[in-house]
Formats: sequence, structure tokens, C-alpha cells
Amino acid sequence: MIDLLYDDVMIGHDPGPDHPERPERLAALRDALRPRLAAAAVTWRRPEAASRDAVERVHSARLLDTLEEVRGQRVRLDADTTMSPSSLDAAYMAAGAAIDAARVVVSGEAQSAVALVRPPGHHAEASRPMGFCLFNNVAIAAAYAVAEWGLERVLVVDWDVHHGNGTQHSFEDRRDVLFASSHRYPFYPGTGAAHEQGRGAGIGYTVNLPLPEAMTDGDYALMFESIVAPIAQAYDPDLVLVSAGYDAHRLDPIGGMDVSDEGFATLCATLQAVARECCGGKVALVLEGGYSLEGLVESVGACIDILQGATPPERPQATHRGESLAGTLRDLHRRHWSIL
Ligand SMILES: [Zn+2]
Repeated sequence: MIDLLYDDVMIGHDPGPDHPERPERLAALRDALRPRLAAAAVTWRRPEAASRDAVERVHSARLLDTLEEVRGQRVRLDADTTMSPSSLDAAYMAAGAAIDAARVVVSGEAQSAVALVRPPGHHAEASRPMGFCLFNNVAIAAAYAVAEWGLERVLVVDWDVHHGNGTQHSFEDRRDVLFASSHRYPFYPGTGAAHEQGRGAGIGYTVNLPLPEAMTDGDYALMFESIVAPIAQAYDPDLVLVSAGYDAHRLDPIGGMDVSDEGFATLCATLQAVARECCGGKVALVLEGGYSLEGLVESVGACIDILQGATPPERPQATHRGESLAGTLRDLHRRHWSIL
């Protein structure tokens, strides 16, 4: 069984005309997936909005107070992040959907879950919204799982084409959340170099895979199979959360990568296999970016097919460039993960 967490409230967030992170993204997913999954073992659930306490595990009280003061207004929060009258309701719902996605898999109500949310989350820092993101949905869910359910190890994998700076900063000095990210680099937001490996007690528990543009399905699959999966298995998580952005899709107008729907299916299958080995298959995907409606709909659909038990596509060969980079990154992360 798969639960899909969705509520129309999140369509109400309006960042303004010609913004790539537009309401149509979620409407397209809803309209395409409902008929496509009509006969499937999928339950559509309306999430509960996150409580202020849950959001405050990641974000500062001062930020939440400031946002409340401008609730219902149109306010520019960052160069490319704008709040509209309904945005705060959408943001609390998106964070709640991420928590509920984690909740249904941790409780065993669903085998896996997909939270279809916006605004996205992974750029949002503790005290400031950033890069289309208001609240850091996946970080809020990870922090909730540790604090409320006593999970000891939560793995967050971020395959959005951008680095999840906010998520990294939320957990970089901790071991109870391991953050692993593949992203284009150098690229927005500028963080995510391979040597950023965590701080203090969290050293080694941040795993960055910075990639050049135009990486292929084979390149991504190799990075996940040869670096992310072995580290994840060694970490032995109680729950796998995915910051599932689809802007590395080859149709995406922003990302500049060459990943197909099948490519995302392969990555999803790799993480599902890790989850099956470590924690009874508990995996929840939380939507981040993805700005081609076709790329987004087809890739989310392909991932849901995998979560439902479809056979993963055969992994295409990596490019020479990808193989060489995977070797370099493996060497670099071996310092903290001898399994590599
Ligand atoms: Zn992105």
C-alpha cells in the first residue's frame, strides 16, 4: 500500500506571474495521477497541517512570528521567494504532509508514502525562507520522527538538482539524521561541496555528491549504487526520507541535467532496496523542485510504480566522466565510510 498525501490548500501558494514554482505543478500531478492510479493500491490522504511546535523544531520562533505578522499579505521574502495571501496555510500544510508521510510508514499503515507538496522546502534555513521554500518540509519531518517517535537514525536523501542547504544546516552537527545529496555544482545555492561532511559530532553524516551538468541516468545510478547505497546500509536507518525534486529531469528548464523518468525510477528503486534491507521498506518521498510539468508528472508516476513493486529499469552504462567522478567521490567519502 502507498499513501499519497495531498491537499488543494497547497495550490493556493502563488509566488507571482512567470515563476517556475507555479500552482500548476501540483494541479498537474493531481490531475494526472488520480486517473492513472485509480486501479492501484494507492490511498489519497488529506494531511493535517503541521503544528507551530513541529515547525519550530527546525525554524526560529522569530521567523514564525514575523511570518504571522504578514499573514494574508503579499510579501517578498527573498530574491525569488514571495509569500501570497494563502502561502502560510500552504506552508504549514506542506510541512504537515511531510510529517504525515513519515507517520504512515513508521506506523506501518502504509508501506511507503509520497507527499505531493508545495512550496518546496530544502533551501529554507532556520531563520529565513529561501529559494522558493518557506518551511523545510523534509527537515521538519525528520526532526519530528526523532523527537516524537524516538527514531535513532533517519536517512534523508536529496536528489533535487539543487543542494539542500537548509536540510544540511539543520542536521550537520548530528548523527541521528544523515543527509546525503546529489546536486549540480557549482550551481544555486552555492553550497554542497564534497568536503562539506558535517561538523562536530556530525562529521561524516553529511554526504555531498556535487555533479557537473548533463549527468545521465547511468551516472546518477552509479553514484547512488556505489556511494549512497553502501553508506545508507552501513548507517542502517529506521526510516528513509527523500527530498524528491525532479529538476534534474532532461526536460527541466532550470536543471541542466540529463535524467529521464526511468532514471528517477532507478534511484527510487535503489533507496527502496536500502529501506527494505534496513527498516522493512519504510520510505517516504517528499516533493521538492521539478519545473517541467511533463517531466514532473512522468517521473513522480515512475517512482510510484517502483514503490508499488514494478521492476526497476535496467541501469544504463555510466559515462566515462561519471565513472571517473564516482571514483573520486568514493575516495573522498571513504575517509568516514570505510565500506566504500
Ligand atoms: Zn531544485
